[in-house]
Amino acid sequence: MQFEMMSTSQMDWRLRCQTCHTAYDVGPMVRGCPNCATSGKIGLLELVRTSPLNPDGFTKRVGRGLDRWLDFLPIQDKGAFLSLGAGGTALIPSRIIGKRLGIPQLYFKLEQQNPTASFKDRFVAMSANAARSFGFRKIVVSSTGNLAISVAAYAAALEMESMVIVPHGTPPGILAEASFYNARIAVTERDLRFAALEMTAQRPDWFPIGLFLAKPIQNAFGVEGYRTFAYEVVEQLGEAPGAMLFPCARGNGLYGAYKGFLDCKEAGAIAALPRLVATQPEKANSIEVSIARGYNCAVELPPFQSVAKSTSETVSSDNALDAIRASGGVGLSASEGEIQNAASSLAEEGLNVETSSALPVACLPKLSRADGFDRDRPVVCILTAGGQRWMDQTKHTSPRVFEASTIAEFERALDAK
Ligand SMILES: [Zn+2]
Repeated sequence: MQFEMMSTSQMDWRLRCQTCHTAYDVGPMVRGCPNCATSGKIGLLELVRTSPLNPDGFTKRVGRGLDRWLDFLPIQDKGAFLSLGAGGTALIPSRIIGKRLGIPQLYFKLEQQNPTASFKDRFVAMSANAARSFGFRKIVVSSTGNLAISVAAYAAALEMESMVIVPHGTPPGILAEASFYNARIAVTERDLRFAALEMTAQRPDWFPIGLFLAKPIQNAFGVEGYRTFAYEVVEQLGEAPGAMLFPCARGNGLYGAYKGFLDCKEAGAIAALPRLVATQPEKANSIEVSIARGYNCAVELPPFQSVAKSTSETVSSDNALDAIRASGGVGLSASEGEIQNAASSLAEEGLNVETSSALPVACLPKLSRADGFDRDRPVVCILTAGGQRWMDQTKHTSPRVFEASTIAEFERALDAK
């Protein structure tokens, strides 16, 4: 398959407000739209191309991962961009789960192959490099896990300082890993996290990565990295999948991929968008509820701590709802037991994923019974992160461990069933 898109220069990008549509030159505007702010409103800024993709021009892509797509991403200084090798993760066919469910072309996208073992590296590569290109030397984030580690790593690589704000109860392994990259770590009450993040972000020398302030403000750069999900999957399959499933907290990964699929369609690389499917825990299913009720603004649900920790979010982004509707997709959820069983099924496939990353597999049975599901098209599950970081919290119902102090004892265990 030829996958050609015209390269774009930085001049081809602007920040545009999703509410009042005012456009701004690209810069470190992390507090939302200034025009909306004058009337006391919050306007979410988004990076948009100002000229269409040219499907005829560009073919000389080199490198791998994000480095392969620099011409298609809003990057200020391509020469200085430091990806740490993010992206370019494998897409592998299922051997077992697809057969069980009667989905012959079921694929897993292995995001644990990213430099810090999660899909957040696509987000942080974009936002940390943007911060540095704007002259910042300090980045701050509030996170319970994968995002914190990614920010710590990219700060180190880009010779920046990082401050990571985590709640009490964050596993010691997470703190150790962030510390290993020389991040400063603030452990606070859960409710204090966003206030601490906002205070830091108000200092002129700190750049916030990820969410801050109330919904929906975040820096506009990170989500752009998720466009590469679409570019990679279209290249790997040679076509658009029929459906693509994401574990979702706010749904930024899904939304960024949607923008990437729009690029692919505009470039003529695919004929139609895949159905984008959000998967969430049953009691943290803001997307499923909002879609079912026909809401344009995502509903906020009571807090719930799922075994799928990274997706235990009370509210999704409105952008994710738009992307799901525009692609003919759906929001699904799974019970705690279904999520854990799905993680075990992935272990049978030789895959150790974070519990949250098992959500797409947990929701596959529901998807396969849904209206319009085409089981003869490729179905892609985005497995967002590796499970190695979370093994302390993984439940093993029957650990197969034995102790042997003599070779005879060892032999008895060896021969036991
Ligand atoms: Zn505005």
